[in-house]
Parts: sequence; C-alpha cells; structure tokens
Amino acid sequence: MRAGCVKPWYLLAMNEPDQKCSPSALSTVVNHPPRISLEAWNRPLTDPIYQTVKFATGTSEQKHSAEHETFLYTRAGNPSLRQLEKLLAEVQGCEDGVVFASGMGAISAVLLALLDQGDHVVVLQEAYLPSRSFIRTVLSRFGVNHTLVSLASPGSIEQAIVPGKTKLVFFESISNPMVRMSDVAAIAEVARRMGVLSVVDNTFAGIHQLGGLGVDVFVHSLTKFVNGHGDVLAGGVFAKSELIERIRPLANLLGATLDPHAAFLVMRGMKTYPLRFEQHSRSALKVAEWLERHPKVEKVFYPGLPSDPCHELAKRQLNGFGGVVSMNLRDQDAESFTHRLKIFQPGTSLGSNESLATAIEFLYARDLTAEQRRAQGISGRSVRLSIGLEAAEDLIRDLDAAL
Ligand code: PLP
Repeated sequence: MRAGCVKPWYLLAMNEPDQKCSPSALSTVVNHPPRISLEAWNRPLTDPIYQTVKFATGTSEQKHSAEHETFLYTRAGNPSLRQLEKLLAEVQGCEDGVVFASGMGAISAVLLALLDQGDHVVVLQEAYLPSRSFIRTVLSRFGVNHTLVSLASPGSIEQAIVPGKTKLVFFESISNPMVRMSDVAAIAEVARRMGVLSVVDNTFAGIHQLGGLGVDVFVHSLTKFVNGHGDVLAGGVFAKSELIERIRPLANLLGATLDPHAAFLVMRGMKTYPLRFEQHSRSALKVAEWLERHPKVEKVFYPGLPSDPCHELAKRQLNGFGGVVSMNLRDQDAESFTHRLKIFQPGTSLGSNESLATAIEFLYARDLTAEQRRAQGISGRSVRLSIGLEAAEDLIRDLDAAL
C-alpha cells in the first residue's frame, strides 16, 4: 500500500468503489507505473540507466527536432549507449563512436561495413587470433582476400597493398599476445598515401592513447581496461562521423547491441580508468624488471622495459605502457606454470582488477605455422601475464614461488 492509503493503491488508481480488485485493473496498472518527473535543477548526479527496448514514437513533426537525438528501438540506439559512445569517442580523440556487445562484435562489424566483395585487406600475423580468423575464415567466404604481414618486416605492409584492391589495413597498436608495438603513425601514413583505410585495434594501449596520429578507425575491446573489472563484455568503434555513419546501420542489422545495463557498468568503470591504467602500467613495469633478472626466465616482452626492442618507439608514442607482460620461460612448460601461481589466476582475459596468466601457444597461436610462431618467439614456454591491481610485491612473490 502507498503511504496514506486505506485501500490498495491500485483500487484508488482505478477508482474502484468496492474492496475487490478486478484482475484486469491490476494488470493494466502494473504495466503503466507512475512516472516520476524531476525539476531540471534536481537532476540525478549519476545518470539513470535507460533499461528499455523501445521509446514512444513522436508525430512526424516531433520526430525531426534538431535539438535532441531521438530514439526508437534500443538495437538502433539508446541514450545509455549514446552517452558511452560520446564519452569514449572524446577520450580516443575521435568525432563519434558506436558501441557493441563485445570487442569481436565491433571488429567484425567494422570489417563487414568497410569491405566489399573483391576487396583485399592487409592484416598483421601478430594480431589477436579471432580477428585473424574472422578475416581468414568468414570474410574469405564473401570474396574478401587478405595478406598476412609481420611487424618484424618493416615495409611489408606497404608491399602487401594491392593498388585498387586493398581497402583496409588492420593492425594492433600493441599486439596480442606478444605485446609488440606497431609504428602507428607510420602505418597510418602509408595507408593514407596509398589511399586505404587504417583500422587499429587499440585495446592493449588503452583508449586515451594514440589519437591524433592519423589513424582512420580505432576499435576496442571495452571488456578489458575500459570496463576494468572483468564482469562485462563490450566493444567500440571510434572514427570520424562519416565513417561511423557507414558502420552504425550495419551494427543495427547485425544486432550485436550492448545492453544498457552493461553500458552503465562500462561508464562506471571509466570513472577510475585513468587511475587503474596508471597502476596497471606501474606494476607491470616492476614485474617485467624483476622477471628480466630471473635466471629461469629466458626473455621478457614489455615495451616499457628499456631493453625491449620496442621501447624507443613505445616511448615516442605512448605515455603508459599498459598492463600486459609476456615472457618465455627458460625450461618450464607454460601451462603447468600458470597453474602453480596462486594470486594470478589461469585465465584468458586482461585489463581487469585481478591478475591473470595465460599459456600462449594453444590459445593464441594455434593457426600459425611453426615458422610464424618461431618468428614471434612463441613456444610451449610462452606465458602472457595480465597485471592486475594487487600489490606488485605480492605478484612478484607469487611468480617467484611458481618459478
Ligand atoms: N582485440 C584484442 C586485442 C583482444 O585481446 C580481444 C579479446 O581478448 C578482443 C579484441 C576481443 O574482445 P572481446 O572479448 O570483448 O570480444
């Protein structure tokens, strides 16, 4: 009962004279709850979640207000998603963005939106396995060809571009799993000069980095550092408005729409993103420096290490080297090592509050030839560490015991 009522409130609301509630009145009332409108000065200081699929449609005059964005159906747009898109586009230094239900949702939509039958795409063999797989196994069925190139051979991207055929270069700013740094500015410049689009997966470098270097399209798995707590899958694409307007209609048709509640959680994660990213990077450097000195570790891969071949480039392009460190153990098997750790959990994600350790070869390199794996330094002794927010000293003690 609402305060002050002697009869159940739905009887009052329906103006029923007797004590009995008509089931039909109850059903109508519960499906049209009272609306609470606030004075403009009394706005909530955390925005509400627009947890709705549909919006009231206006008249034909009302529909075309230039002042406000309008919404019809959440698959095509929702204020909670729009708020996140605008925030993340601003942080990435882009005009606009569109968010998706996962990073792979974002990557597959971008490729499908920007490529046509008969086109050719250049892709890094160092990139995340499902991205390579999507290009190799799905796009090829629709007549899109590709060439795999390696970061280890500078110039190979330019050589792989087929004039008139290549439409897009797809690469990662920091590669997954071996954390190799791409020369983002140079790749963007080659792409622009050759008249093709540059699309970078910027997940590992973080959404605040690498804007302004001439890249056409940024894609992110927001599941990682952006949400930051390992409890939401999300993805995003950020670019000039004209490119986003090519991608958004396909996002609606593919239906890989982010749920508004998930958008709220990502938005909440963003409030601590700068603090978290700094802490992940600081601890990752401590861990990488310690591992580098350990006799049972053959090689450490982390662009923040002065000894890493990517360091000079990373210093030029980044401020904050991120929270992923990879390494090759000298003579231990990666999988059993990850299961000896106590604080690091054996798991495949990254960029969340808790530290994770992954045996690389099977999860990320099973489609590469032995030669391609060797060139990247991947073997059964390769481990990827995602450094979380625990104390770096505790993480080092955990690694020490397992080594
Ligand atoms: N891109 C990179 C670099 C990733 O590491 C991942 C996932 O690990 C993805 C894209 C895909 O993101 P999601 O898992 O959100 O689909």
